[in-house]
Amino acid sequence: MNAIDHPERDTIPAAGGCSDVPVLKESGQREVFCGLTGIIWMHRKIQDAFFLVVGSRTCAHLIQSAAGVMIFAEPRFATAIIDERDLAGLADMNDELDKVVTRLLERRPDIKLLFLVGSCPSEVIKLDLPRAANRLSKTYSPDVRILSYSGSGIETTFTQGEDACLASLVPELPATSDTARQELMVVGALADVVEDQFQRIFAGMGLGPVHFLPPRRSDALPPVGPNTKFLLAQPFLADTARELEERGAKHIPALFPLGAKGTEAWLRAAADVFGISDDAFETAVAPARERAEISLERYRAQLNGKRIFLFPDSQLEIPLARFLANELGMHPIEAGTPYLHRAHLEHELAALPSTTQVSEGQHVENQLDRCRDANPDIVVCGLGLANPLEAEGMTTKWSIELIFTPIQGFDQAGDLAELFARPLVRRSRLEV
Ligand code: SF4
Repeated sequence: MNAIDHPERDTIPAAGGCSDVPVLKESGQREVFCGLTGIIWMHRKIQDAFFLVVGSRTCAHLIQSAAGVMIFAEPRFATAIIDERDLAGLADMNDELDKVVTRLLERRPDIKLLFLVGSCPSEVIKLDLPRAANRLSKTYSPDVRILSYSGSGIETTFTQGEDACLASLVPELPATSDTARQELMVVGALADVVEDQFQRIFAGMGLGPVHFLPPRRSDALPPVGPNTKFLLAQPFLADTARELEERGAKHIPALFPLGAKGTEAWLRAAADVFGISDDAFETAVAPARERAEISLERYRAQLNGKRIFLFPDSQLEIPLARFLANELGMHPIEAGTPYLHRAHLEHELAALPSTTQVSEGQHVENQLDRCRDANPDIVVCGLGLANPLEAEGMTTKWSIELIFTPIQGFDQAGDLAELFARPLVRRSRLEV
């Protein structure tokens, strides 16, 4: 949705480990969805939350088409359309917004958490949504908590919607009650089935209490304090992590839980911080790890040696490239990411093959040229690039699918590998 043109390109050296390879830093035209897209998975995760986008008809179309099948369910997202009257200053936008929120909350008493979500239009007209959320909270608290964040497409990419949403929740989290007891928080939206698997593994090794952010319901906000150690389940949560650190919580650096090895390393990082014995760790982890390794074997045969090129889109690209290289024998030629958070990706960069070109930001024309020159077996990219590349004969995988599909954890490792094997198998059948 963005077309921002500031051509400029330079390289900066990466620090530490295999990360001494230079990172290609680019800026120019980008091909990404905006942060509003995050509403699609966040509204499924927090089951009593409602997301009210304050935006244009374009924003409404984006959400509606991305949500697709959800139109028949009781919706938990909507768009308050800023129309010409509002833009011309004929109507007081704050009064209009108050009316829309009042109507919504009268009709939907099931809503306990309301997010006012900013967009490009609301930012352009400088509508102060944090202030509106504050004002409305005074009327509706304690029955409804009203927060705001920006999902606008100005200098952002679609997974930042989740980061902004979670960051807005952090100041609302209660303080931990027993500061002498260490507590673990897993941060990042995970499918419920994945969350349950992790909860069982942590319980199996005697590690607890474990909290998850976001919670499934707004009345179950996890506590936070100086005794909180947090693991990131997603690599795109820089603002949320910073907010948690401001509340005294400490980040546990780790690989991200993709694949058998990534998941093991992620769990191990927490186990080490919480002083879990090797025996207890092995007992809790071994059966699921073995299942994951068996499930990967089949796909290793199909994917080993295949060359892959990842365009910057979901911010999962670097952990994905590490998983595909180290556990399936693929060759990531380039792993692009919209933003490179060095501290959060330190372990990932160190585990990435030194032959992989890491790139940050995007100049889409230059990157397409590099991709065509490399002629990879498979390309991971956004929807806007996939069709043209398929038309040129390339095999593609939509990066947004990796966000909508449960891919974290041992029991999803095979499913994650299959997401890459399937398009290659389909292409080979077409060619027969
Ligand atoms: S927030 Fe901006 S980029 Fe996103 S749909 Fe609305 S106008 Fe388009």
